[in-house]
Amino acid sequence: MKRSDILFRLLEEDESRLDQLWAEADRVRKERVGDEVHLRGLIELSNYCRRDCLYCGIRASRRIERYRMSEDEVMDSARLAVRLEYGTVVLQSGEDHGLTRDFITRLVRRIKTETGLAVTLSLGERSLDELAEWRAAGAERYLLKHETSDPDLFRRIHPDCGTEVSDRIALLKAAKEMGYEAGSGVMVGIPGQSYESLARDIMLFRDLDLEMIGCGPFVPHPQTPLGQAVIPSEPRAGARFLDSSDSLEMTERGESRNLSAGSQVPATDLMTTKVVALTRLVCPEANIPSTTALATVNKEHGRELGLTRGANVWMPNLTPLKYRALYEIYPGKATVIDTAEQFHQNLLATLAALGRRAGKGPGGRRSPRVGRD
Ligand code: SAH
Repeated sequence: MKRSDILFRLLEEDESRLDQLWAEADRVRKERVGDEVHLRGLIELSNYCRRDCLYCGIRASRRIERYRMSEDEVMDSARLAVRLEYGTVVLQSGEDHGLTRDFITRLVRRIKTETGLAVTLSLGERSLDELAEWRAAGAERYLLKHETSDPDLFRRIHPDCGTEVSDRIALLKAAKEMGYEAGSGVMVGIPGQSYESLARDIMLFRDLDLEMIGCGPFVPHPQTPLGQAVIPSEPRAGARFLDSSDSLEMTERGESRNLSAGSQVPATDLMTTKVVALTRLVCPEANIPSTTALATVNKEHGRELGLTRGANVWMPNLTPLKYRALYEIYPGKATVIDTAEQFHQNLLATLAALGRRAGKGPGGRRSPRVGRD
């Protein structure tokens, strides 16, 4: 598919042609990665962060209660993943140098030797030396979303740390060279994001030959500059990042008409599942999660919409309940009342209703394909 085709399909509004897109994505998903839904237990290690991303609720300058899980707490969550028969744990955090190289190395070694689970790291932009050491310790995958391929927009919403210039694409390439499976993704509907740039994002997924691609809608957090820019009832202190000459219809997310390639992408479930479906067509063998952000903007059906429009991965949250609400990268994200076990029962019921089944084993892209079943 060419970029112009992707762009055309992102702008599609005709119901029957959209139904064709969903059917095509679901067929390719079934043919290429099968009916198994791989379960990755998400452990949100720490909400300390040295970055000040304009979209994120755990940005450095927010005064919130911070936590960092202990080694034993992480191991408890990993053992819970084993009990629930998940094949992988994802260690995710803010960009927290308090999670030292040695600490992560030790954790990865312990998880590998004591549980045999596959380990995905999602710790932000860390040094190549650290990535190499963690790979040698046994980590198989690194997840680092490039968020948007529009360099100006990225710079505006993701300020550099001092003199260090962020280059997430270079880091992803380096991780692949070290033998990691690499994962990226974008937020759909970032204020200032154009359809043109979103089409480029999907092409970039293919060019980088990514093993994992996670896309969720941008969910405005009222206590962040970018959230304040789109939530009209909030003070607009942070709105200055937008130039007043930008003709963005910030308060009309999802309502825009007369779409054109340069206009604002809405942060809706519909637009997100268009991205998921097109990503499946362009990267047929990738592991693609139905994201928590999608389930947040459509609480009733978001998860299922992702899974029936191209996704084959689900990342249930295994963070201890006492920390869940503190890892508030956007509001409404946490199913704080559900324990992992309760959540798991609902998950199995959801999968059964869709005619899908929980994957067993690590579920890496290079593991044998289930094929046609
Ligand atoms: N510090 C790590 C992990 C960040 S949280 C890193 O930067 O890679 C994981 C993902 O949550 C981010 O990559 C981003 O895509 C998503 N995220 C953060 N804030 C969000 C928001 N307001 N709405 C939707 N997704 C958000």
